[in-house]
Amino acid sequence: MKHSRALLAAAALAACAPLPTAEPARPPAPRFSTAYMDTSDAPRADLAHYAFGTWQKNNPVPADKSRWGSFGELDQFNQLALKGILEAAAARPQAPGSVEQKVGDFFKSAMDTAAVDAAGLKPLEPELARLDAVASSADLARELARLHDSGVGGFFGVGVDADEKKSDTNALYAYQGGMSLPSRDYYFAAQFEKIRAAFVEHVARMLALAGDTREAAEAGAKTVFEVERALAANAKTPVELRDPLANYNKMPTAELEAKVPLFKLYLDERSIAARDIIVGQPKFFDGLQAQLAARPLADWKVYLRYKLLRSAAPYLAAPFEAENFRFYSTVMRGTPAMEPRWQRASRTIDGAIGEALGQLYVARYYPPEAKARMDEMIRNISAVMRDRLAKLDWMTEPTRNKALAKFDRFTAKIGYPARWRDYSSVAIRPDAYLANVRAASEFEVKRRLARLGKPVDKTEWQMSPPTVNAYFDPTANNINFPAGVLQPPFFDYSLDDAVNYGGIGAIIGHEMTHGFDDQGRHYDADGNLADWWTPEDAARFEARARKVVAQFGGYEPLPGVKINGELTLGENIADLGGASLALEALERSLAGKEKKRIDGFTPEQRFFLSWAQVWRTNIREDALRQQLAVDPHSPGLFRAIGPLVNLQPFYDAFGIKEGDPMWRRPEDRAKIW
Ligand SMILES: [Zn+2]
Repeated sequence: MKHSRALLAAAALAACAPLPTAEPARPPAPRFSTAYMDTSDAPRADLAHYAFGTWQKNNPVPADKSRWGSFGELDQFNQLALKGILEAAAARPQAPGSVEQKVGDFFKSAMDTAAVDAAGLKPLEPELARLDAVASSADLARELARLHDSGVGGFFGVGVDADEKKSDTNALYAYQGGMSLPSRDYYFAAQFEKIRAAFVEHVARMLALAGDTREAAEAGAKTVFEVERALAANAKTPVELRDPLANYNKMPTAELEAKVPLFKLYLDERSIAARDIIVGQPKFFDGLQAQLAARPLADWKVYLRYKLLRSAAPYLAAPFEAENFRFYSTVMRGTPAMEPRWQRASRTIDGAIGEALGQLYVARYYPPEAKARMDEMIRNISAVMRDRLAKLDWMTEPTRNKALAKFDRFTAKIGYPARWRDYSSVAIRPDAYLANVRAASEFEVKRRLARLGKPVDKTEWQMSPPTVNAYFDPTANNINFPAGVLQPPFFDYSLDDAVNYGGIGAIIGHEMTHGFDDQGRHYDADGNLADWWTPEDAARFEARARKVVAQFGGYEPLPGVKINGELTLGENIADLGGASLALEALERSLAGKEKKRIDGFTPEQRFFLSWAQVWRTNIREDALRQQLAVDPHSPGLFRAIGPLVNLQPFYDAFGIKEGDPMWRRPEDRAKIW
């Protein structure tokens, strides 16, 4: 086993005087461990409990988190690395304009809480005053344009991204937005009644903090809620938003402008000119226009006042940040305490200038050999997926040929971008936290808008390098693995192949099969939305997907609240495919070799234990409720076992038989890829 540079540096530190760029003390990365298991339970009874019951008992959710599991542990591990980088950059003068200067001064501005608190609402006052002065709908459109230019939300979203039917060119999009609560249901469903009342109270507190009288704040809060609920009334649900075909409505921009006159003023103000626009949810814009026609200007002003406060609150004096946290984290997700200041700052900087901070992270913590090892695993898992596509019994030749053509075109990006984003035009000062956040958002908004009409740059990343996650990009037909996830428990070459195939291998397969899930299958080899399936094959796919919907829709994580099988379908299909492909890749790598037991477990058992441990989770009830309402991913405890009970090798590995709680009838098991 090779020592990482971090370990070597830590060893050096112990031997000599402290270095100016001291490595922070980091716990070991959270690797696979049989010590997490609870063997008092049999795998046939509950594999999740068997695989990580002891971990679950010993690892309650920390006070400053809404959930805890392997992703959170690895994120914390990466955060401690970022802390060292940020502190080192801030500790000494850096060359003006350098990446170190921007990162260091950003951190200083965030950590100077005395200055942030002393400034109170001052950093936001000019913007609040402009909003106050709005006296006409033209003013309103101008103000909205200005807010969107600096990354503040409200009314709707406008963006530039790959045209989903002409994926090599960037197009203009307009989509529903402007709601502060996580989804449409929060404004109407009975289960969120308490949240709605708490939201109104929260908005009132926020407006009062900004200087409104108590009466004005309470009246304003009611208005903000009414405006948002009126927008929500014509918004699509998270399930409806998963249909890429229904969300693609290209029309002449003039048509939307004629329907919503404010939109024309808004685009002009932002100097956005495009002949066509792809409208995600036309009905939402109809509803918006009806509201614009019916409501007085004062309603929109107080609504935008709240949006402005909300967007700035985390970077303002303590009372604003605390109130924002109280509602969005404590009330909504049950999290009692804030993360320490350095960590909030680190997340802000990662979100604002992630490829600046990410450069420093990669230079220090990303072992170059990771890429070669990932390439090899991707090759091995691709080979399995390709063979399966070639042999699939339910797919006919015309569809199969197109599926193979698509599969042969997919590419992978690993670690970090080939070319770092150039932040030289973003001015970062050591004494202006909110201004730094705004400068970075303005840069990012402008950078994205400038792509309009230009060819799509498929080398761009949607996640920063330290992120513990991965993604499939349907229009680029590529899978992406940031450096941050290429560590234990996902990627761990101190351990056997079985553990790695159950970890990062299954994640690779997961991302790969996203190209062929209920959403991804609508994109062709070029990443264009196109119907390349024969009707019979589409129907056969649907029938198989229905089994996945039924399986996960039957799980009930909270009393009376089941997993939404439609919302989570794409992710569940990807988990099922990922686990199944990675397992076969492992078997191929073991062919002809002696299957040695490690810690008393066969390679297959270790594969399934590793898979399950990746999904070990403790979660607060409120956070779980929110996840079930809006997150397309099933809760970790169900991801740990849900895909496995569809796989015969899982039953074989643990001797699970009919009648055991983990048993799923063969006719109910889903098999897609
Ligand atoms: Zn996924």
